[in-house]
Amino acid sequence: MVKVRFAPSPTGKLHLGSLRTAIYNWLYAKHCNGKFVLRIEDTDLARSKKEYEDSIINDLKWLGMDYDEFYRQSDRFDVYRKYAEKLVLEGKAYYCTCSRDDILKRQNLSDNEEVYRYDGYCRNNTLKPDKPYVIRLKISEKILSFNDLVKKKISLDTKELDDFVILKQDGSPTYNFAVVVDDGEMGITHIIRGEDHITNTFKQLLVYEALNFKAPEFAHLPLVLGKDKKPLSKRLGSIDVEYYRKTGILPEALINAVARLGWGYENQEIFTIKDLIEKFDIKGLNRSNAIYDEDKIIFFNTKHIKMMKIDTLIKHFKEFLEATNLNLAGKMIDEKWLNFAIESIKDRHSTLKSLYDELLIFALEEIKIEKSVLEELNYLFSEKNMSLAYEKVKDYLIQIDINQIPGMEIENILRNIATEFNIKFGDLVRVLRIKLCGTNKSPDIITVIKLCGEIVKKRL
Ligand code: GLU
Repeated sequence: MVKVRFAPSPTGKLHLGSLRTAIYNWLYAKHCNGKFVLRIEDTDLARSKKEYEDSIINDLKWLGMDYDEFYRQSDRFDVYRKYAEKLVLEGKAYYCTCSRDDILKRQNLSDNEEVYRYDGYCRNNTLKPDKPYVIRLKISEKILSFNDLVKKKISLDTKELDDFVILKQDGSPTYNFAVVVDDGEMGITHIIRGEDHITNTFKQLLVYEALNFKAPEFAHLPLVLGKDKKPLSKRLGSIDVEYYRKTGILPEALINAVARLGWGYENQEIFTIKDLIEKFDIKGLNRSNAIYDEDKIIFFNTKHIKMMKIDTLIKHFKEFLEATNLNLAGKMIDEKWLNFAIESIKDRHSTLKSLYDELLIFALEEIKIEKSVLEELNYLFSEKNMSLAYEKVKDYLIQIDINQIPGMEIENILRNIATEFNIKFGDLVRVLRIKLCGTNKSPDIITVIKLCGEIVKKRL
């Protein structure tokens, strides 16, 4: 059975690059009827924060990306220690008491040298030292290779590596050790992650071998770049899931857009989640870098707003209001109105925020008419008979129960009034639109009248 994992370090919010990794793993698990594990990699106790763990979990929930198993590495320090000690007993790892200074001095390196290699000084230590120590993996010289599912065959000469630390002085494991203990114990079959991990993969292969665990398949993803071809993570690190949620992007649209950053299926662009699950496969992953374009996200969102079932859209809309602390001037309680309103205007919008902005026009008690539109209104009123026609429309709309009278009937009356005063129906509509909406763009006028309901009387 396929079992994959998403293993974020809670040192920041869930940003676009990690989100893509999460999406591919989740889709692959779903596609194969396998299992998806969420593992919080918080071995770096100084940089990991509970608030980031919470926000990652929250984001996955919002995205509808459910997981079958959950682990937190800081709950498993005993497990890592046990495996590290076992490797020492087997002669595959050793205790090392060298300080950074010792290592640098022996190699005549300056104090501020950042990258240096361990020289193997403690390799033959078998006794547990009585002073602070780390545990290092004993590495033998050879050429390591693996067949990456995306990048094909990749090799590395272990001469380029040193006997790296697997357990730190404070008893916590290093990333490359913990990750293999976990992936091995948890039975992970495929690892899909960014290509920035390729060097780690070689180190991890050595740990798999030492622990006698079967290594999983690897699929390393090319980077996501900005339009300027620079790595996204460097410049736009701030683009996180929360940013999209607060701008009114739908989770389905975000998943669709991000999935397309480096994966494809024929020429298809728009996918529902069900569709993605059906069609996602590692074979479809691109070998070249992906380019991120915010306009593309808006494009996907527009399509998803259009095609989404109205109930689901309303559910997301309400969540959006909650997440952004917005409200619709008390209209939220009226479900029927909300349903009708969203159904009537949704196709004109690219984000939930712009949908909200337009809905507000129909929910507020008072609106402002913009100056440019006011000029248009004055011009329309300068037309012969427009004022008379308008007065008649106003009298009519004020005395009826707008919610009860069918839209067709209202439209007929308005058309008759236009004919009676010999003005264009279109011009009369323009006047009403500006009076009712404060702008010269809106859905058709009958929908506007229905959406405004009783407020029509006030606005006219
Ligand atoms: N915690 C690592 C990261 O966030 C996970 C890498 C991996 O998938 O092994 O980059």
